[in-house]
Amino acid sequence: MDTKAPSTSPQDTARRARVLTGYRPTGPLHIGHWFGNILNMRKLQDEHDAFFFIADWHMLTTDYDRTELLPERIRGLVLDWLAAGIDPAKATVYRQSDVPEVAELALLLGMITPLGWLERVPTYKERLRDLAERDIANYGLLGYPLLQTTDITIVKGELVPVGEDQVSHLEISREIVRRFNRLYGPVLVEPQPLLSESPLIPGSDGRKMSKSLDNFIGVSDEPDEITAKVRTFITDPKKIRLGDPGRPEICPIFTLQRLFSPPDHVAWIDANCRSGALGCVEDKLDLAGRIVEYYRPFRERRAELERTPEIVDEVLAEGAAKVRPVVEETMKAVRRAMNLA
Ligand code: SF4
Repeated sequence: MDTKAPSTSPQDTARRARVLTGYRPTGPLHIGHWFGNILNMRKLQDEHDAFFFIADWHMLTTDYDRTELLPERIRGLVLDWLAAGIDPAKATVYRQSDVPEVAELALLLGMITPLGWLERVPTYKERLRDLAERDIANYGLLGYPLLQTTDITIVKGELVPVGEDQVSHLEISREIVRRFNRLYGPVLVEPQPLLSESPLIPGSDGRKMSKSLDNFIGVSDEPDEITAKVRTFITDPKKIRLGDPGRPEICPIFTLQRLFSPPDHVAWIDANCRSGALGCVEDKLDLAGRIVEYYRPFRERRAELERTPEIVDEVLAEGAAKVRPVVEETMKAVRRAMNLA
């Protein structure tokens, strides 16, 4: 049996590497998503052959009993992406469930994936712990990495953007691909991690900004809502009133100011917080104003898109048509290699 990896032709070398990233439709985008994913996706679509998909089947691993939320969340996510500058003319934007072959390949890969590999993935236990009140200890959640491997390999994804602390998450996908290729020949492409910067964005309680912790500022929140949310953020607990010296390095407001303010203003805040001359209320109002302005073009563009709601179906149909030939090619090779066709 030929065990060489799939070859790269001279033509391949000249083309852009295929990068894939998926997104669970869990609700409106917030600032953490914006700086953690969206800005990176805008760069990826310019520099790579980018595939962006809405991972609606993945959402079922934790929200299988809330499917009534799916259509609106998918619609909202497509509108958010478009308003944020994700361009379907540059990237292939599609919905996972529009590619039923994903289920077929997930089943086939499931046949060769040892249970122990899935059980040792830390996110499985983390999810069970974080969502202890929900009944999610299901086969679907355990098989999450398998579905993820399928998403990547079915479109021949070569690169997967990950933060430095997530490189190990991709390792199981690489192991499954290697096992498949050892058993059936060099059919699947082994994905590589694409290290990407993903700054830790604090929420109102100082923990990582997240929807489930309800500590987030949505990128489409109205100005009043943004101001109200910024006011609730914790600051340096030792800085109680104007005049008290503060420690910007432990303050979530300062972390956000570094994202939304020019460097000279950040330096001014740093100095005046430490001296006590700057009060937290003043700093928060300043930050709120900057966030409101930063997202003004996004809000306006999103409102405009809302007036042509059919655009969502058009984008998804176009994406499904673009992804189909790639998927069919992979599945033909997989079925042939496994003597299923
Ligand atoms: S002045 Fe600003 S940076 Fe300093 S503790 Fe208050 S909110 Fe944080």
